[in-house]
Amino acid sequence: MDKTAAQLDAQSTNENDELPDWQHDVRVLQEHLQYAFVQGCKVLGQGRVADYIPELARADTYAFGLVAQKTDGTVVSCGDVDTRFSIQSVGKVITLAMALKLFDIEEVFSHVLMEPSGDSFSSIIKLDTKSDLPYNPMINAGAIQVVSLLANHVNSQDVLQFARYMCMDPDIDLNEPVYHSEAQTGDRNRAIAYLLKSKGVLMADPEETLDLYFRLCALNVTAKSWATLGLVLANDGENPITSQHVIAPNHARAINSLMFTCGMYDGSGEFGVKVGIPAKSGVGGGIACSVKGRMGIGVYGPALDEKGNSVGGLAALEYLSHALHLHVFDYHPYIVEG
Ligand code: GLU
Repeated sequence: MDKTAAQLDAQSTNENDELPDWQHDVRVLQEHLQYAFVQGCKVLGQGRVADYIPELARADTYAFGLVAQKTDGTVVSCGDVDTRFSIQSVGKVITLAMALKLFDIEEVFSHVLMEPSGDSFSSIIKLDTKSDLPYNPMINAGAIQVVSLLANHVNSQDVLQFARYMCMDPDIDLNEPVYHSEAQTGDRNRAIAYLLKSKGVLMADPEETLDLYFRLCALNVTAKSWATLGLVLANDGENPITSQHVIAPNHARAINSLMFTCGMYDGSGEFGVKVGIPAKSGVGGGIACSVKGRMGIGVYGPALDEKGNSVGGLAALEYLSHALHLHVFDYHPYIVEG
């Protein structure tokens, strides 16, 4: 029989023990994930799939999947976790990580700021009126700027290989229909690239930059890819399964910080309060979450709220954060002092 939220909550911590039950017993974690899945499913009808990139409108509003991968390699999952969907804005994490690998961290952040914009992801307003540099690498203007930094040094195959490596997913590939659909309709992103060029800050040819950006956004991933990406970030840049140092610890720290402050669009502040986990979402319905030292969580749920975040993902993550005490500023009853 299904457990109630109160029963699950009661078993999520164990006062006689150092660690909560879910850290000992994978079945407890699976039960919580299952419950979170149900919370997410309940609200899917309140969201809408993105349609400003026509190909994205083909997604199923009621598709939903959750995966958690712990640092010890344990994986629990529920729902549509093998469905391929396009990476969209979560790709901004991949290109930022690549740029940090190729250039000094100071160099990267001399081309893009580190501030939340408070505006929607494709807004052009602050770029035109307030600052010559984009506010952060997690919004379109900032990601296009970072991609321009990369464009003279890497090609789309390099980006693809790096995405596969970061997510430990050799099956990531270009979704051609999504790529063509966005390339044909991406006028807002064209406007951003040319505005950056007009200010003299874009680092490469605008058309080459945009082509690399559109190809990045059209990579096909799964919720599992996101759990692994989150896990690498949660583990200071090292993949705990393969022991590969995928990115440097200070780069993981910078990316986690930007995910926390800017990763959930102009809903990042509210997400920070309610969920409190560094996360990046994309309009393809994905969310990658990095739970420091503990796990990566991947979400697929293409029904979005008005800001572009998966409605099912938000509900499920709020439940998981509360039940498993995952909020970065949470009080952990099992931490022994002294
Ligand atoms: N390819 C999308 C765009 O540039 C990404 C947006 C997103 O996922 O936030 O509009």
